[in-house]
Amino acid sequence: MPEFPEVKTLVNWLNHQDFFSIKINKIIFIDAIVLKNSTKKQFIDFVCNETIKKISQIGKFIIFYLSNGKIITIHLRLEGKIFYLSANEKSKFPLVEFYLDNDKKIVYDDSRKFGTINIYDNYQKLLDSSEIKKLGKQPFDQALTANYLLNCFKNKNQKIKTTLLDQTIIAGIGNIYADETLFLCKISPFRKAKDVSLDECQQIINNCRKIMAQSIKNKGTTVFSYQYALNHSGSFQKYLKVYGRKNLSCLRCGSTLCWTKINGRGTTYCKKCQK
Ligand SMILES: [Zn+2]
Repeated sequence: MPEFPEVKTLVNWLNHQDFFSIKINKIIFIDAIVLKNSTKKQFIDFVCNETIKKISQIGKFIIFYLSNGKIITIHLRLEGKIFYLSANEKSKFPLVEFYLDNDKKIVYDDSRKFGTINIYDNYQKLLDSSEIKKLGKQPFDQALTANYLLNCFKNKNQKIKTTLLDQTIIAGIGNIYADETLFLCKISPFRKAKDVSLDECQQIINNCRKIMAQSIKNKGTTVFSYQYALNHSGSFQKYLKVYGRKNLSCLRCGSTLCWTKINGRGTTYCKKCQK
């Protein structure tokens, strides 16, 4: 699943393309299952004849700012991808195609069809929406501080691994960066969130930012099929220290890395280094 660095890589890539201010003239749905707050007709009426002004992200959400203040959000979930192709090029699992006046198209592609697309009349409606309103701080937000985390963690009896995946606390961390962050912090994924100290909260923030910045430099982590553009993958998987390294040696102490499921999510960690 694309996490903050993969979404950031995709947004950076999209922002370097030449579709800005070019009119969207036609939408083709192969499957409209991704539309969550509009019908096909509403979506077509909303988007057609508008242009894309800019693209940014909030956590794992990609935000398309259109002309007339309109906004589209896309969440890729497990396998969503966005491609910018010639009008006659084909992606593997297209669900929605946005045809532009320059004989090109933007394609939302998703083999699993778990992604979501929402529309909002304006920025305030986006901020007030249930999907955005509940999000916590983003990894590089100034407002993400050790005190903020400590306060979020203090009544949490659940395991720290589960808490780090909670998008209402930090928006953008998924399974890969949660495992990597806890390894760098030497914190056991089983530790209760309420038992994490202020100093450890600061370490979580520092290490999370460090790993994510490195990942963004390497255009994200490709473990299953993530691509930020057609046939363009990330390479940060080469630098992962625990994720995907079950039964291999810990790069810090040499012990065999353990793998278990915590709240249904695969978790790789070092029993010896992480306390
Ligand atoms: Zn170790």
